[in-house]
Amino acid sequence: MQRRDFITTTALGATALALSGCHRAEEKTAEGTSTNINRGKKVTLKLATSWPAHFPIMGTGVDSFAKRCYELSGGSLEIKVYAKNILVPALQVFDSTSAAQIDAFHSGVYYWKGKNPAFSIFGGMPLGLTSEEMITWMKFGGGYELWRELYGKFNLYPLIGGTTGPQMGGWFKKEINSLADLKGLKMRIPGLGGEVMKKLGVNPVLLPAGEIYTSLERGTIDATEWVGPALDSMMGFAKAAPYYYTGWHEPGSILELTFNKARWEKLSSEHQAIITAASEEMTANMLQEFRYKNAKALQELPKHVQVKTFPKDMMVAAKKALGEVLESESAKSPDFKRVLESYQTFSRLNKSWDDISTKNFLAIRG
Ligand code: CA
Repeated sequence: MQRRDFITTTALGATALALSGCHRAEEKTAEGTSTNINRGKKVTLKLATSWPAHFPIMGTGVDSFAKRCYELSGGSLEIKVYAKNILVPALQVFDSTSAAQIDAFHSGVYYWKGKNPAFSIFGGMPLGLTSEEMITWMKFGGGYELWRELYGKFNLYPLIGGTTGPQMGGWFKKEINSLADLKGLKMRIPGLGGEVMKKLGVNPVLLPAGEIYTSLERGTIDATEWVGPALDSMMGFAKAAPYYYTGWHEPGSILELTFNKARWEKLSSEHQAIITAASEEMTANMLQEFRYKNAKALQELPKHVQVKTFPKDMMVAAKKALGEVLESESAKSPDFKRVLESYQTFSRLNKSWDDISTKNFLAIRG
């Protein structure tokens, strides 16, 4: 077996085996022979993230995932988590994992739309599916098959690595009373949401996280979106822009936990199952943590902040603009077209049930 220096595979020591009594017992069948040749091998994987060390909710979610893999494997699977820019730059994680320089990464899918425009759909869509709906499309509606097929071309194997729940529309220095008020505004907003905003007259800009607050405070930009109350509060945006708008452009963004495909295929089926289970646990926990902490942080926003909803004419225009963006992307990219068709087929199926269940219930509950 070829071993690269970044992958450490060693026989598990006698001490560790002794500490894992039940684990060892399972290794023997009634006849006393070994049932799994991979048992007893310790595997260490290097995982790089696009976040600062222990970044709240997203980063700590990955930390917990790695801890769970270790616990569930009885110590035979160690995933070492590296904050951004330690092993590789934050937005190099895709390429580095693809080239097998590292084993895995945790990041946001929309960063890679330059690799294939279709990837932006796996990250979530403006005015589209919520987190729970996205996960359902992935697992039951064909999303995962398409994502794995297209990532496979980059020697990558993706798993959902958490989700943010609905994000807020962003912080604005001036109130937006009509579509016309957007004309010429400079706003930090990435992805398909940025493309839609561009059609509404906004000048979308991309800025590294560390520069957003200063740009907003100095008026270099007029508005910015980020995530939601829990994480936005930490950025201090309220001090620079008092109007906080409800969301539409990221109703359920998906984060990814992606492995080098060749490396993934070499893992034992037991380790693959542990990673898959721990990733699902991480996704559920992250969604719940975002919900709880956003609700708490909303109560604690400074008094001068005004929570607003975008004007109706803007949302009508946004829906129309989104249709145009999707149409032009589909015309340019057969992959985008194919993924969009799968997404929309699920959306239609989901809507008929959602209208008479969740949506109806929430309307009644009020
Ligand atoms: Ca965002």
